[in-house]
Amino acid sequence: MSEFRADLHCHTTCSDGSLSPVEIVKLAKELGLSALSITDHDTVNAYATAVPAAKELNLTLITGVEFSTSLKGNSIHILGYGFQLDHPEIAQLCAKHIIRRKERNHVILELLKKHQMPVSQQDLEEAASHSCNGKGTIGRPHIALAMVKKGYVASVHDAFKKFIGEDRPCYYQGTPFSVEETVEVIHHAKGVAVIAHPHLINNNEIFKLLLEMKFDGIECYYGNFFSADHQRWLKIAAERKMLVTGGSDFHGSIKPNVPLGCSWINEEAFLTLQSTLNNH
Ligand code: AMP
Ligand code: ZN
Ligand code: FE
Ligand code: FE
Repeated sequence: MSEFRADLHCHTTCSDGSLSPVEIVKLAKELGLSALSITDHDTVNAYATAVPAAKELNLTLITGVEFSTSLKGNSIHILGYGFQLDHPEIAQLCAKHIIRRKERNHVILELLKKHQMPVSQQDLEEAASHSCNGKGTIGRPHIALAMVKKGYVASVHDAFKKFIGEDRPCYYQGTPFSVEETVEVIHHAKGVAVIAHPHLINNNEIFKLLLEMKFDGIECYYGNFFSADHQRWLKIAAERKMLVTGGSDFHGSIKPNVPLGCSWINEEAFLTLQSTLNNH
């Protein structure tokens, strides 16, 4: 029997990944993963096709999502796991994010125009045309792809670094959603709320504030970070009796250096997560 590995963080064409939900389930199976959670940005639409595909391939799939929130002007990602897929509060929050993203993308396109880099709404929709039957979320990676196609920047990375990354001249966050309200929605839907990739939060004060909130877990294992980088988060999770989660944050060709399964949790951590969910 091969080692148990659960990758609990990846994106499909329903947000800014390049593989469809069915393709990602098949890839997980091919790689020998034991369990998977798809965590698209602000949408759970992937599960419509991922659930039957996982059933057919006998792959354990737990519900997941990565919600965008803001704390004191800092962008914070929150992972939700094991919630009821059809819970009305989850649907409502996702619907509000669609509106936020529409308004936000419009403002970013205006800012790009001011910087002599026009990208039309149609260009953007073409860049994101692989999204889940038109039901996917459109974000900055799609704007970056459109900018590359227009020849304004050399790469997606370049677009973020020069123009649309946080603190860059064409960045706009949009109407912020609070951490508290997002955690509450996940809890109402019987899920657990997890602080996503603390490795990327480079503000200690913000991380401390997050620890005072009602999170159930920390994403201790993340992406291509080395195991030494995980120790700090594992220690904090153990001290606070919080769940340990982990995953690759696989996006497919948009982030080619991050393969599916490059970060994962073992069977013990996964069973602890499942039993917490069962007792919710
Ligand atoms: P959004 O949800 O529209 O704010 O876009 C956030 C997503 O953009 C992240 O989840 C990453 O997938 C991607 N991203 C953020 N920074 C970079 C970067 N420097 N290079 C490539 N992709 C990035
Ligand atoms: Zn993403
Ligand atoms: Fe994230
Ligand atoms: Fe992610």
